[in-house]
This record gives sequence, C-alpha cells and structure tokens, in this order.
Amino acid sequence: MVVGLGETGLSCARYFAQQGMAFVVMDDNPSPGLLPRLRELTPHTFISPIDAGVLKGAREVVVSPGVPLSAPALRDAASHHVPITGDVAIFGKLADAPIAAITGSNGKTTVTSLLFHLANSQMKGVRCGGNIGTPCLDLLGPGASLYILELSSYQLETVDSLPAEVAVVLNLAPDHMDRYPSVGDYYGAKAGIYHHCRKALINRDIDWDFQLPADVEITTFGMGQPATESDYGLIDRGGVPVIVRGTTDLVSGADLRLHGRHNVLNAMSALAMGAALGLVMDRMVEDVVTFEGLPHRCERVGDFDGISYYNDSKATNVAATISAVQGLDNGTGNLVLILGGLGKNADFSELADALRGRVKHAAVFGRDQRSIAVALDSIIPFTICRTLAESLTVADQHAVRGDVVLFSPACASQDMFRDYLARGDAFRSLVKAAHS
Ligand code: ADP
Repeated sequence: MVVGLGETGLSCARYFAQQGMAFVVMDDNPSPGLLPRLRELTPHTFISPIDAGVLKGAREVVVSPGVPLSAPALRDAASHHVPITGDVAIFGKLADAPIAAITGSNGKTTVTSLLFHLANSQMKGVRCGGNIGTPCLDLLGPGASLYILELSSYQLETVDSLPAEVAVVLNLAPDHMDRYPSVGDYYGAKAGIYHHCRKALINRDIDWDFQLPADVEITTFGMGQPATESDYGLIDRGGVPVIVRGTTDLVSGADLRLHGRHNVLNAMSALAMGAALGLVMDRMVEDVVTFEGLPHRCERVGDFDGISYYNDSKATNVAATISAVQGLDNGTGNLVLILGGLGKNADFSELADALRGRVKHAAVFGRDQRSIAVALDSIIPFTICRTLAESLTVADQHAVRGDVVLFSPACASQDMFRDYLARGDAFRSLVKAAHS
C-alpha cells in the first residue's frame, strides 16, 4: 500500500510497477494532481481514500513524507504489526553505490548541492536527490557511483536503517512544531540518519546526544579550533572566518561566493563530507570557491541607491532567519528585515533577541504577524503590513545608503504564496519593479 500520491508516492509506484509488484495507492484527495501520471504508469492501479480497515490487512505500508505517522489509520495499522516504511528505507536496501546522507534544520539543500558540485568535478556517475529534485528511488539504475541524498525529518521518520557511507545532521533548531509533539521528537527523527552509517560527521556545537554505535567513525565540525588533525573548525583571522582541518587552513570565507557566516559552516560540512567520501581535498578547495549558492537563500538581488537587497525566502523557520541576520550583520545595526507568514507555532522570542542591535526596523506581514509583533514589541521598531509589497515600501522608507534590506520570513509561505519559490520570486520582482 502506497500512502500519499505526491512525487514520492509516484516514485514508489513507478518502482513497484517496474518490479511487477502489486500495490494500491491511497490518498484522501479524490483526484490528486499526480493521478494522470500514475495512470500513465499503471492504468489500472486501484486508488482509494486512506482506509484504516484496508491498511490493517496490508503486507507493507509505504508512507509518503507528507503523511504524518500519527495519522489514526497508520497508528492503527502499526498496532496490528503491519510493517510501515518509506522510500528512503527501501532505497537503502537497494542502493548499489555509497550513500552520502544529509539532514539538519537548515542548510540541507545548500550542502547537498555543494557536495554534488564538488563530487561531480572529481568523479562520474554522481546522483543527487531525495528531499530535493529527484525522489531517491528514481535515482537507482546502472552507472551510479555515489548517491547524495538530502533528507527531511519527515522522510527520516520511516527509516529504521540507512547504510550511509557518511551521514550528517548539519544543525538542530526547533521547526515543524505543528507536526511534532515535542522538540525531542523532531530532533530524534533527524538523529535517525546516523543509524547504521559507516562514518558520522557530527556538529560538535549541537547540544544533543546522538548515541552512535561504537563502530561508527566520527569526525566533528563546528566553530573554533578543532581538537584533532582530522576534525574541522572555523577560526577568526582579523574578522575573516577561515575553515581549517586540524591545524591546516583550507579556505577563507572571504573567497567564497556564498553570503553569510552560516554558509561558511555549510562549506565546511561539504568539504568534510567530500573528504569522508575520498574526494581529493586540494581539488575540493579549488571548486568550493566557484559555487555560486542557490536562489532564495541569502541571494543578493542587487544594489539600488547604495542599499543591498537579499532574498532569503527559503528561511521558513526562526533559526534560518537568525543565521541570515547574524551572517549579514556588519556590527552597525544596518539591517532592515521583512518577515512573516505561517509561523508553525514557533516561539518568536528567541528571534526578537537576535534582532536586537542588528535590525533597525522590521516590516511584518502574513497570517501570524500578530505573534511576531508580540515578540518584537519593545525590542525593535516594526510596522505591521498587509502585503509583501507594502512591506517592501516600508523597508525602503527606513533604509538609507549602506543598509541591507533582508527578506528572511522565519515562516512558511502558504498563507499567501504557493511556496517559498513563488514568494522569493515575488520579492525579487517587487524589488526590481520598485527600483528600475
Ligand atoms: P534547507 O534545505 O535545510 O531548508 P537551505 O540550504 O535551503 O536549507 O537554506 C534554507 C535557509 O536556512 C537559508 O535561507 C538560510 O537562511 C538558512 N541556513 C542555511 N544554512 C544554514 C546553517 N548552516 N545554519 C543556519 N541556517 C542556515
């Protein structure tokens, strides 16, 4: 039984159809958008609403990441000892090349894409996907030499074992509190990436006990001087962060095309992952500085009248916005921040603390603007706005030459936009329209 017909469910259906295995697809939406593509694959596959009675009798249930395991029908099936799995666990059993597995609250896509950039320059047959681009089962096939997977906590919930060559949890910060009963449940799902890995790359600044099996080879990364020659760190040299391995300098943050200190950490993790996979460090160091970064992640839109505009629409949680603000802060309190959207029950008080002294004014829009406003009140000045366009107008009124206008919403986008991409595109267009 394949539960949920999104891109992941469709890739499972494709795989089962190729294998000649019988399956049923369940989705509560009577006409999921991908139904025509399922019909192209298997014209006669039975599709039904999610049905507890039927699930109870399943041989195995393959759950899409969009469907929470807490759904009553799934809970019921689990209590009847029906095996519940997901595409990543299936992939782990079938993969015919080493797997590099990447998760974290923030930076996953950046590190996954950067590692792909580094690996691609040194070897053929590198495949990249998972939570970005191609679902993992669609990556399988002849000629693969390395699989680089971005994995979300939702995907990891159904992974009991993933034999990754190297795995990393980049960072942990509260997110998705509308889906998890506690922060511990969310962090625990992420930590699952290390089960059965051969090498673990650990962020030593994360305050969480990962409980790794004894035979796992551990390398650490994080701020400051590393304790051993094989660990990675970030040293400040005259205000410029430099990535080091042991006592050896690897690359200066000033040479990267990525913006913000958090991205220097992302570059460090990608280099460490690459080294664990056997890539040549000198070549990686040459290649890391040519990586342009990705749209919607601290992306520089342009400079107009001496003001720099950044689109960080992908910042869908508090931690992401804090890192963008800290990363672009130059110590003069010259940031004007635009934020808001769907808050996912986040606690915005930590965000407010991080904005103090750095953000001179905030323009707050979107459905959960009131809870953001309550947190910002008496910490920094802000204006409540109806739309993103109005927020940009307000930001422009407060920014002067030398300032940075940062759009880093700290919220999901679906209250007003299809997704973070549409939201970032809208911001870019508004900036260009207002200044051309
Ligand atoms: P993800 O795929 O985990 O959502 P992205 O690489 O798409 O991560 O970046 C999403 C947002 O997270 C960025 O817009 C940036 O603000 C923030 N971010 C990126 N890397 C880090 C990091 N290492 N630590 C904290 N925040 C980060």
